[in-house]
Amino acid sequence: MDEPSNVLDVAQVLRSTIDRPEHALHGLMEAVDAGQTKAAASCLRQLPAAIAKLLPSEWIEKNATALERGDYDPLSPLFANSKFVGPDGHFLIVAPWVFRKSRGDVCALAALFGQVIPHHPTPGIAEAVEDMQGAKLRAPVTPVYPIRILSSAGTVKDGWFIVPDAWMWRDSVLGPAFSNISKKSQVLEESGAPAMRRMFDADTAEFLIDLLHGERGVAVTFRSYEIHDAGHASGLGLPRKIHDNLIPGYWYKGVEEWRADGIGFELGSRLFTVEEAAADIAANFYARFGLAGITDGTDGPTEHTPCALLMLDRLLREGHLVAKGERLALRDPTIRGLVRAMEPQRHEVLELTRRELDLVDATSVMRLYGSMSLHPATLVVYESMMRAPTVRYFRPELVS
Ligand SMILES: [Zn+2]
Repeated sequence: MDEPSNVLDVAQVLRSTIDRPEHALHGLMEAVDAGQTKAAASCLRQLPAAIAKLLPSEWIEKNATALERGDYDPLSPLFANSKFVGPDGHFLIVAPWVFRKSRGDVCALAALFGQVIPHHPTPGIAEAVEDMQGAKLRAPVTPVYPIRILSSAGTVKDGWFIVPDAWMWRDSVLGPAFSNISKKSQVLEESGAPAMRRMFDADTAEFLIDLLHGERGVAVTFRSYEIHDAGHASGLGLPRKIHDNLIPGYWYKGVEEWRADGIGFELGSRLFTVEEAAADIAANFYARFGLAGITDGTDGPTEHTPCALLMLDRLLREGHLVAKGERLALRDPTIRGLVRAMEPQRHEVLELTRRELDLVDATSVMRLYGSMSLHPATLVVYESMMRAPTVRYFRPELVS
């Protein structure tokens, strides 16, 4: 069989290999939604043969035992070494997963039955991060698995980015993050493009939308996650920041997100073609500006808000983004213009990352992140030209 030339076998994204998996696993999903660990364990021990044959028996056995004993640590080495994935990419995980919300974390039982889509990880990411920060990595770069969810329940239900550290076993951060590609493409299509048209003038909006059109958007989204997550591995590393509570509250988490985005843009400029780097930036415009406006309207501020504000602030400050009537516009809506527009953020986060690595006392990270400043006008622009128009469009009930 020919190697797929793309980073991702996009045709696989929508192809289904199992007949009605949501029916076959109905009992398990119900038990998980009801938080019944013992019932979930017995469902795992009596999986329909058509599904059991797709999955590694060692994982299923250990996962059932973990549910019965309430001790998930034995899953740790299998997860870190991808031993939970069957030969055709199928996997089933049933365990508590923490859903992080601005109003407090929710930890509850979750079940995820899916399939890893064949993909090509971008080579050389870890080396490129070490080269740019001038120091060895202090945390591993998280692998990102593009997945199709076949059936899910509990806190991961229909999630689009399922982070490894939210699984409740030791060192879960060493395993892969899951990127729910079909859900993400659907959201990009349904929400991203309309949001861009409400914030930006026609030239800028159509330029950004075109960069993420169709199958290209799916592949770009996957690559964006890869390089963004590599950004989290730079500096002191996200696992340490979470473990030692170095970034409490959404401002500090937002600065960390903005830093990871910026390192991602830097990686994009080093590892990708200029067209791919620009498409990655467009995907970030969708995620940070477009979708942040929607979540802000529903669940209070999250780390997306300071991240979007910092990104906007630097674009406005350097004149790469300007106001045109009631909309914002890129000064230079071209591939090279868009890549150039992110250079100030790239330089600033590289400097920030190097300073972070030089800290004698890691708790000073808070002082460092706390010192990031925003021009007061940025808040006004964000509220009036980004958040309000998108909330008005997507959640009219909130503004009536
Ligand atoms: Zn992140």
